[in-house]
Amino acid sequence: MENAIIVENPSTAKPPREDSPAQPKVKRAGLSTTSVHAGEARRKPSDAITDSICCSSTFTFESTQSIIDYIQQKQDREEYGRYGNPNEKVVERKLAALDSAEDAIIYSSGMAAIVGLLIAKLSAGDEIVIFDQCYHRSREFCAKHLSRFGIVTHQVETGNYAAMDAAINERTKLLISESPTNPHLSVIDLEQFVDLGKSHQVETLIDATLATPYNIRPIEFGVDYVWHSATKYMGGHNDLLAGVICGSKEKLECVRKMRGILGGINSPHNMYLLERGLKTFALRMERHNENGQRVAEFLEAHPRVERVYYPGLKSHPSHEVAKRTMKGFGGLITFLVRDADWKQTADIIDACTIPKIAPSLGGVESLIEQPYVMSYFDYSPEDRKRFGISDNMIRMACGIEDSADLIADLKQALEA
Ligand SMILES: *Cc1c(COP(=O)(O)O)cnc(C)c1O
Repeated sequence: MENAIIVENPSTAKPPREDSPAQPKVKRAGLSTTSVHAGEARRKPSDAITDSICCSSTFTFESTQSIIDYIQQKQDREEYGRYGNPNEKVVERKLAALDSAEDAIIYSSGMAAIVGLLIAKLSAGDEIVIFDQCYHRSREFCAKHLSRFGIVTHQVETGNYAAMDAAINERTKLLISESPTNPHLSVIDLEQFVDLGKSHQVETLIDATLATPYNIRPIEFGVDYVWHSATKYMGGHNDLLAGVICGSKEKLECVRKMRGILGGINSPHNMYLLERGLKTFALRMERHNENGQRVAEFLEAHPRVERVYYPGLKSHPSHEVAKRTMKGFGGLITFLVRDADWKQTADIIDACTIPKIAPSLGGVESLIEQPYVMSYFDYSPEDRKRFGISDNMIRMACGIEDSADLIADLKQALEA
């Protein structure tokens, strides 16, 4: 989008040769230009076009004085692998640029990122308020584990801003929501969410994994922290795990320091894969959005389908909010099979020949699963009901295949 800024890498960019062409003067590039170029040095070692994988667990100093210069922040350089590596830094700059954020901290998984942020920011006696439709492991971490350290979590109904308002008190430190949520694809009104935080002077965090910065840009709405599982659309190829927190340098300073202690960093190889995946990020998102919309429309018109959850459909309760806040609606679709029990629902999944049966989303390959079996099998029927997980629910993550093929495959599976 217009606001992404191409960032040069000051630490590794050598000055251009006298005969080298002028640098492009673009300061506000589009999302595709940003995903290809942002965060990378114009000239790299050996004049390579790609960033080389820098395998080094530690980094050498020329002299004792250069250690002192580094400690006194006169030199921007690496120190020891747990504090980051050059491949991570390129990806961090690229992800910050994509989200119009000042800074981004990369972790070895999405969960490592949220845990890293919460541990760095919260202390005993603090409280947080979260919307209840959120990634089940973040809900579990807050409810079962933060509580062990004296941190209280209030869960309120997703999209109920009055309930969130009522749950805030002088101990509240953070408001958390996913947008869109999984698997119901509810979209949060970011203006209301941010207003709520600002009026109580409480920070806000959005898990924008399902939207990505292609479809939603929470920082531009005034959200303090944006969290993504980069395992999904950002990596995009179902071949890596990573997570990222974006925000201001000042607010993330203590989070970065905590990461150096927790140690959930990424190997240079993993970061090379993520950097490579990000090159096609905007292109892939265009296709995910297109496939999501087409498959959702097909499903909604099919007699065996009882209901489709997709924010790009007029029938979705969040459609108006989604149109106001999102550029596209992503590749994830949830639907209910008419008059089907869990086994008849499973039979449809088993009859598909293109989408593979797996958890996750956001990769080039389409994936399909039954939330009841995949993520909620050990929940009580009451708890499944509370989280809106019905036996006849299917979640499909559209990849980048041809939508006509995905539709033909779903049609034969529904009609088998
Ligand atoms: C996958 C996912 C996560 C967790 O990320 P990992 O990379 O699997 O740790 C968090 N939030 C959402 C919405 C996700 O889809």
